Amino acid sequence: MTTELSIIITPEEENNQAVISQKILQALDQKHIDYKGQKVTPVFEKKSIDARRAQIKLFMRYKVYIGEEPENEDDVAMRWKKADGSKKVIIIGCGPAGLYAAFRLFESGITPIIIERGSATAIRKNDIDNLTGQGELNENSNFCYGSGGAGTFSDGKLYTRSNKRGDIYKIYRIFVEFGATENILTDAHPHIGTDKLPKIIDAMEKKIVELGGQIYFNHLFTEFITERTPDLTAKGVKVTDLKTGEQKELYADKIILATGHSAADIYKIIADVEPACLEAKTFAVGVRVEHPRALIDNIQFHGQQMSQAAEYRLTAQENGRGVYSFCMCPGGYIVPCATRTDQIVINGMSSSGRNSQWSNAAIVVERRPEDIPEEFVKIAEEQGCRALAGLYWRTWLEQLTQHYGKGQYAPAQRLTDFLNHKLSDSLPVTSYKPGVISSRLDEWLPKEISERLQMAFKDFGHQMRGFVCDDALLIASETRTSTPVRILRNKETLECEGIKNLYPCGEGSGYSGGIGSSAMDGERVAAAIAHTLV
Ligand SMILES: Cc1cc2nc3c(=O)[nH]c(=O)nc-3n(C[C@H](O)[C@H](O)[C@H](O)COP(=O)(O)OP(=O)(O)OC[C@H]3O[C@@H](n4cnc5c(N)ncnc54)[C@H](O)[C@@H]3O)c2cc1C
Repeated sequence: MTTELSIIITPEEENNQAVISQKILQALDQKHIDYKGQKVTPVFEKKSIDARRAQIKLFMRYKVYIGEEPENEDDVAMRWKKADGSKKVIIIGCGPAGLYAAFRLFESGITPIIIERGSATAIRKNDIDNLTGQGELNENSNFCYGSGGAGTFSDGKLYTRSNKRGDIYKIYRIFVEFGATENILTDAHPHIGTDKLPKIIDAMEKKIVELGGQIYFNHLFTEFITERTPDLTAKGVKVTDLKTGEQKELYADKIILATGHSAADIYKIIADVEPACLEAKTFAVGVRVEHPRALIDNIQFHGQQMSQAAEYRLTAQENGRGVYSFCMCPGGYIVPCATRTDQIVINGMSSSGRNSQWSNAAIVVERRPEDIPEEFVKIAEEQGCRALAGLYWRTWLEQLTQHYGKGQYAPAQRLTDFLNHKLSDSLPVTSYKPGVISSRLDEWLPKEISERLQMAFKDFGHQMRGFVCDDALLIASETRTSTPVRILRNKETLECEGIKNLYPCGEGSGYSGGIGSSAMDGERVAAAIAHTLV
């Protein structure tokens, strides 16, 4: 028989197998399970940390096999078949959604043809180095665009709350197949790290080609090729080779649109074909707050030494809108994530060791469609698609941020000065490599954002004593936590409502919000397509 159980241990007991075995047997006794005379094999499943009290506790979950041998883990690679080209699916976007869609298509022997505006991982690395080192932004190859999408040079946190939408363990197992450490299968908050992700994505690219798929890097999707049959149907795509300027037309049985939420141009392409496909949705914008890592560790671990950097999660309700921490990067870095040279957009990442001297998190304010100022709604209406108002406002905020910065130098203010409405005379040393410029964020951020941030930071200072301090730095602006637009799709078939053969997928289409959930959405969409083609 098998049973699931949890035991509680201290950090010091984590490597003491005798203590763990004894606690597992005690847990079996408490469950009145008779294991006497039988072989007991515990298989570790998950660890989570409770650091709310001075005595830190580790919750360890096990699946225990009694008188049975543990089953073999499903070998994900065994499911992939070499594609023969008889059925083809174009995937626009090589982020987690696009990549995982491709691997799911191989399970049915379908050929994926991936179109990606950015470069392959190895070349993209140079573009990222130029951006962080010299502040030079390549508009098609950066932190958001290129092989692996926004996930490659990210933090690589894989934790997702949307497990019900798919099998997150299958997503983890595929990452492990390409080189991620097996810890991600068992950690409560699995994390790969930006130092490891590029190699993993590189291996995925190679496997896709080996299995008969095609990847067109440095190719920009510009237009759908449609027909009325009698419904509006996407038959193929027009792309531009960004190296040569050559225009190409590609055709396939189905098209997956997995372009992420940075590509504002995509929504305009869709609005030109069928504006009714787009719907405005709630998103969130704000700033990133960066503290010395030791300060956050000290608050969260109550002064105790721990091997890992501490995480936190903060939420508040201010004047009817949620304000919350997002994408917390313990021991991480703040990075420039704009996709156009006239914008500043920031985000966070960390390496696998999470060992930088800083910890940062986005602190963002919920923004609902009805919060978008009338002038942006008017522009969107004049352009034929009201649903794009939030996107125009987001772009305006990203440009406004650059107005107060310089190039990719981002505007910044000490948290205490933000609360006291004061320009910072000096700024603490930051992980944000292009550099920062002292600026009154409290003055120029939209009032409904800055006031809610101020209220929330005061609340957070009570929730985490020491969080509000002179050493905490705010950097603007964090605008890409999720997309302001959803591309409508049928709940059952996952096909776009209004354009047949087109399958909106992943974060940019409004169906996911991170690496894990985007990968799961890629799998779901590819499975739905395989159902119709095979
Ligand atoms: C710095 C940073 C850190 C992050 N950290 C985490 C984290 O720790 N955990 C987490 O869960 N999430 C994190 N995220 C978010 C996560 O990366 C995204 O949620 C996820 O990558 C979305 O996957 P996707 O496949 O839907 O889209 P994307 O990853 O955005 O991929 C879309 C791809 O489409 C391509 N594309 C766009 N337009 C076109 C076009 N016209 N023609 C051809 N190609 C096009 C883009 O170049 C891109 O490669 C982070 C993001 C950033 C920027």
